Amino acid sequence: MQQSCQETFEIALSDRAKAGRPSEVRKVFRAAQRPGIISFANGAPFLGALPFDKLAEEARRILAEQGGVALQYGASDGIPRLRKHIVDVMALEGVTAHPDRVIVTAGSQQALNIAAHATINPGDVVFAEGPSYAGGMSVLTSHEAEVVHVPSDGDGLIPSELERLIDEARAAGKTPKVLYTIPNFQNPGGMNLSPERRIKIGHICRKNGMLLFEDNPYGLLGFDGQTMPAIQPEFPDITFYFGSFSKMFAPGLRLGWVIAPDSIHDQLVNIAETAALNPAVFNQLIMAAYLDDAAWKDTLDVYRGIYKAKFEALVETLAEVMPPGCTWNRPTGGFYLWVKVPDGIDTEELVWEAIERGIVYVPGTAFYTNGAGHSELRLSFCLPSIQDIRKGAAILGELLREALAI
Ligand code: PMP
Repeated sequence: MQQSCQETFEIALSDRAKAGRPSEVRKVFRAAQRPGIISFANGAPFLGALPFDKLAEEARRILAEQGGVALQYGASDGIPRLRKHIVDVMALEGVTAHPDRVIVTAGSQQALNIAAHATINPGDVVFAEGPSYAGGMSVLTSHEAEVVHVPSDGDGLIPSELERLIDEARAAGKTPKVLYTIPNFQNPGGMNLSPERRIKIGHICRKNGMLLFEDNPYGLLGFDGQTMPAIQPEFPDITFYFGSFSKMFAPGLRLGWVIAPDSIHDQLVNIAETAALNPAVFNQLIMAAYLDDAAWKDTLDVYRGIYKAKFEALVETLAEVMPPGCTWNRPTGGFYLWVKVPDGIDTEELVWEAIERGIVYVPGTAFYTNGAGHSELRLSFCLPSIQDIRKGAAILGELLREALAI
């Protein structure tokens, strides 16, 4: 009998695909695509202060003068002109690297993915702040890593806790392989890893034969323009340093980069090539043209001011509207604020009611791989207007008061 073309069969997914966790954040984002909703969920930059006319002119000029290059395949590690700019950008945070060591990628997400591909075997233990970036957790779990969250405080990840958890993993016969850290304006916690801890943590990794993934998309977004010393310069032999143009400029060009330890640079370029052949040349030329003009630093200053004003509006309103027992931190830059609510409120359940009332946040559970985070939530203040931030925070306060029956 002829088979119906409707008939389905079960696709034998790879172990890797099965290990990947669907991101909770995506579910919330999908539900929150309603017109008029005030989103505290997106980690998307505010683009309103970009010089769009100038960028349009650059795009036109690039196509007119170098269209045959811009629309052609390119070098798998990126165009030299952009790699040179990236070296200058990284120098602002103390990273010195030769342009030949920079691998340009489709955002730092891809950079993280190729680094994980290059280094993680199924069952390897990867340590990460608890909580940590949901998209990063997805990369790690999809490479079948076991993620172990390391307790953090206001100064970031706690070194003695890292040591304890490494010992525990070893005692259980596991391989501690990588520490994944977001040292600046952490996503989602907002805190900075203190300079002393950066050094301590690097030594702990080296002593234990572990690699260090330093993910730094927010380092230039301190409200006062202050930067912290990167970890990579002290530990270049074990560190993968990830950078991105997504938060300091715009995510639409999909441009990020990675500096790998010298010993595996070439393999990493091969892996990047397998994944994407090369990053988009047209996009790289636009990015390079933007960075050719030193005015990009003034634009970044404008953004710092905008984000600071939004942050202040948020914390000011939270202080007025939040019920007793709720706490939040006061980051000095970046996009996020971390809120703790009293036990008994489940932020994962409450988010659907929040969406009904016109706001959305990300429940804390999205940032842990171990089921923690039900009494926590992340508020992003980067995208909504100040007016919406005040209005949205008031809705959140009211919702929490009702949930607590206050
Ligand atoms: N790392 C962190 C900590 C992030 O917050 C993000 C984006 N939210 C990324 C990496 C990925 O950024 P992109 O791929 O746009 O560079």
